Amino acid sequence: MQKTYDAQNIFARILRGEIPNKTVLDTPHTLVFDNINPAAPVHVLAIPKGAYVDFSDFATNASEAEITDFHRACAKVCEMLGLEAGGYRCITNAGAHGMQEVPHYHLHIIGGRVLGRLVDPA
Ligand code: 5GP
Repeated sequence: MQKTYDAQNIFARILRGEIPNKTVLDTPHTLVFDNINPAAPVHVLAIPKGAYVDFSDFATNASEAEITDFHRACAKVCEMLGLEAGGYRCITNAGAHGMQEVPHYHLHIIGGRVLGRLVDPA
């Protein structure tokens, strides 16, 4: 499915330097920064620098270099932030049912405490 990218979304603006962020890791294809509204002691967002709407857009259309860089950056951040020992959770939301707020692909990396169940029972 072809998805239209909104170049005015907040993460596009962060990538253009129009909005500040607390950067954790900056690589050729990936930016990782603190979530402004953390859900746990560690809650960072990893975004590709390319214009991808969501997970499937990124997985389908990004180059192998972008995909590799993104996942290596996420793994490096887990190590850097001390999450490997206790564990962590990576989540990505997509579309209306996933309750995605920002239409630029991002992975939430969350940890620092025991996390609740993945999905609340309906
Ligand atoms: P989504 O619901 O799209 O998966 O998650 C979007 C996330 O972006 C939310 O957790 C929210 O706290 C975070 N967020 C929204 N605006 C900003 C911002 O301006 N700066 C940062 N660092 N995070 C933001």
